Parts: sequence; C-alpha cells; structure tokens
Amino acid sequence: MKLKLILLFYLLLLATTFSQSDKLAVVTSAGTKYIPAYERQGILYFSVIHLADAIAVNYYYNADAQKLELKFNDYNLKITAKNPFIILTSRVSDYSESRQIPTSTYFKDDQIFIPLIYSFDIIRKASGNNLTLESGKIVLKGKIPEVPETKAGFDITGISVDEKINGTLIRVKSKKRILTYNSSYKQNVLKVIFRNVNADTDKIKLDGGKGLIQEVKAVNNGKDTEIQFVLGKEYTTNEVLNADGSNDILITIHNKIFSRDEEREKNKAKWEFDVIVIDAGHGGKDAGAIGVNGVKEKDVNLGVGLKLGKLIEQQMKDVKVVYTRKNDTFVELYKRGKIANEENGKLFISIHCNSTSNKQSDATGFEVYLLRPGRTKEAISIAETENSVIKYEDNPGKYEKLTDENFILVTMAHSAYMKYSEKFSDLLNKQMTAELSISSRGIKQAGFYVLVGASMPSVLIETGFLSNKNDEKYLKSAKGQNDIAGAIFKAIENFREYYEKVMQTEQ
Ligand SMILES: [Zn+2]
Repeated sequence: MKLKLILLFYLLLLATTFSQSDKLAVVTSAGTKYIPAYERQGILYFSVIHLADAIAVNYYYNADAQKLELKFNDYNLKITAKNPFIILTSRVSDYSESRQIPTSTYFKDDQIFIPLIYSFDIIRKASGNNLTLESGKIVLKGKIPEVPETKAGFDITGISVDEKINGTLIRVKSKKRILTYNSSYKQNVLKVIFRNVNADTDKIKLDGGKGLIQEVKAVNNGKDTEIQFVLGKEYTTNEVLNADGSNDILITIHNKIFSRDEEREKNKAKWEFDVIVIDAGHGGKDAGAIGVNGVKEKDVNLGVGLKLGKLIEQQMKDVKVVYTRKNDTFVELYKRGKIANEENGKLFISIHCNSTSNKQSDATGFEVYLLRPGRTKEAISIAETENSVIKYEDNPGKYEKLTDENFILVTMAHSAYMKYSEKFSDLLNKQMTAELSISSRGIKQAGFYVLVGASMPSVLIETGFLSNKNDEKYLKSAKGQNDIAGAIFKAIENFREYYEKVMQTEQ
C-alpha cells in the first residue's frame, strides 16, 4: 500500500515536470504569457511565432515554405523549419550574419520550434538586447507600446488595389497608426492581422478580383482585424509596411516574372540576352566630380564606357551595345532609362566615379550599387550626389522624391530583376577585385534615379575616388580604364552564362 502511494507520488511529480516544459514563460510590461514549448533530449524548444506575438514583434510567416521572418526594430531574423541556419540582417545597415545552431529547428503543429539555449543569443541581438533570460523565463525590457483607444467609428475604413507591372499594391486606409501587424501565407491565402484596431468590414471588398488578388475578406476578431486575400498562383512574396506620411498600411504582393507556361514560350525571344546598355554618367555641362588634379568624372566614365562597348562589340558579336551617350553631351537622367527600355536592354550598367566632399582624401576603392533604399548614411549621400545632376535639367520637378513609399513602388517593379542585379553585382565585384589595382569597398545599395528608370537588371559602379590622388591617376590612365572595362566584360560573360541557364530551367 505504501509503495503504491510512493509510486503514485512519483508519477504525479513526473507528470508535473513534463507539463512544465510544455510552456515557456514570457514576461513583458503586459504581464506573463506562456508560449508553447517542449523538451527533446534535454533541450527546450519553443514556438517562435508565439514569442513574436507575446513581445509584439511583427512577422511574416510562409506556412507552405515553413519560413518565418521576425521584423524587429533594427533587425530581421529569418528562421526556417528543419534547418539549422538562423539569418540576421540589419534593417539600418548592410550588416548580415548567418548563425548555425547545433540542432535543426522543428516543425510541429504547423509551427516552427527552435532550441532556446542555442538561439537565444541571436534573438537577443535581434531584439537590440531588450530580451533577457531570467531563471528560465524570457523577459522583455521596456514597455510594449500602448495602443491608443479606438474612438467612435472604425479605424480601418477601406482598401484600394492597384495593379503594377510586377505585382499588386494594396492600400489599407486607416485613421489610426497601426504598429503591430503580421502576415502569413498558406495555400493561396495571405492573411494579414492588424493588432488593436477595428475595421469597417463591409467596405473591405474587391468585386471580381484585381491583379493577383482574387478575393478579399475582412473580419474583426476580438481586438484585432484580420484581412484575408485569396491570391493567384503567381504569388511569390509580400511586404507589409506603414505608409509614409499617413496612417495607411501598404501591402505589396509580388508575382513571378515568368509565369504562365504559354507566356513563357511567347516571351522566350523577349528575354534573350541580346542588348546591353552602357551608361556613362554625366556629360556636357555636367562634369560630375572633379579630381584633385582636375580629372573630370564625365571623361573617365565615357572612357571606360567606350572601351567596354568595344570589347562587347568585338567579342560578343550577337549582342547589341546601346550607349546612353557616345560623346561629351548632356543626357537627362530619365532619358537614360528610357533609352534602355526602348532598346529592350537585358542589362544596364551605369559608370561613375566617387569623390569625397573634401578633396585630397585617403578614401579609395570601387563600389557596386544596387537600387534599393539606401541604408547607410554614406550610401544615401552618394545617391544624393549622383542624383543632384538633375539641377542641370530643364524640368527637375518631374522626379518624384524617393521617399520610402515611392521606393516601394519602384523596387517592386524592380523586384523581378533584383535576383539578376544581385548576381551581376556579385560577379562584377569578384572580377573587379581580381583585376583592378584598387580595392573593393563592397556591394552596396542606394537610391539612384538613373537606375529607377531602367526596367531590367541594373547596377551602378563607382569605379574609384577622384578625390584620391592614386585612384585619380589610375582612373585617368588608359591602363586603369582598360582594366575596369575588361573586368566588367568578364563579369558580363559570366553573367550571361548564368542568365541563359536560368532562363532555360527556371522559368
Ligand atoms: Zn557620378
């Protein structure tokens, strides 16, 4: 009898130990929440999505691909099911890091679980060190933002949907700033949840569908609003973000560049690698940067551009070279993209030289730029310098300010080409690193008007610094210009190989 009791006691004890590991406590200014967790071989795994909810961090979850992206203030954290890599990317600089944890993440009950001890360090970093681990509990420093009370009426009053070249843009009209939202995708349905708002659900409708969206449905669910978008097969990814200058939320739905099978055949010729556009920056009344010893940027750009063109014409005879300028003339920025588009370019290369504001500086090296909102101060200031040439134009007002919101639209149009632009810049950076006597400052991103206009894979090269004596000398010399042109040409050859392979297999 006594033995049975003891046994029962141990069983009870055992049961409680197990049930304790079913939950992980998360302590915030809003109180303690228990999120799903379980123990496996002595290691505690917890559901990442539930952590994000508990600490009010926005996220996007693709349930089909089993990929989750948490959007902290300064970092994005990407986690994939059954995969030991956690990827951290900065939202404010070019920094990114990939962390391999000793065990894979798990997928259970439709959720991704990650091992607490191996992942906490990188999660803490992503949170800006606002998370700590205190006696087995995750604790959030600081306050979860207080949500203003909803006044009479609805916060979300409607939506508008616009079809764009490579996707669909949705504007969710809101009277209140919405800080917390997340999105998830599963079997053709994109679900976006907005926290602490209510919506006039009758007004959130789309009759007959538009663009990639077949159907829209909204429900108010407790304190949240949930909008569901039924999407077409060509969906690839989405972005949800606060609009610039209003309380609205913008949702971009991106589609595949090559979609339907019948279109693929029809468009095959259209995607042949047959036209390269060379854009020598500046020209005519716009000299660009001036070197310490008086070398003009426009001359270097043209020199490199013409040398590159010649190489292509001689060694890639089936490819047509289009120059935005072939001599010392002024060409407006928007015209450069227009020329490229009209000629159906497959690659756009804009050639420039860098300079610091105080002449005679030590800064040296080349940079390859992609079109994306500039993340670092330095990238933004370089873009501003290159963009400032519009002051020479008759009607500079036609350029929209590249605010975040305009950028979304522009980069959305570019997202289809981004993969190719990235690939080319990578090949280019490698080739230039191997062949030039000036070193690489890396691949960067910034908002250049000249890249905005071109609807094709495109990069901008800052070949070196005219404010640096050595760089200037090299950039002026025939050897320097030949080196640069040669390196770009080899990168084009490698890119072409890649491009044609992708066109054949992946479409
Ligand atoms: Zn320039």
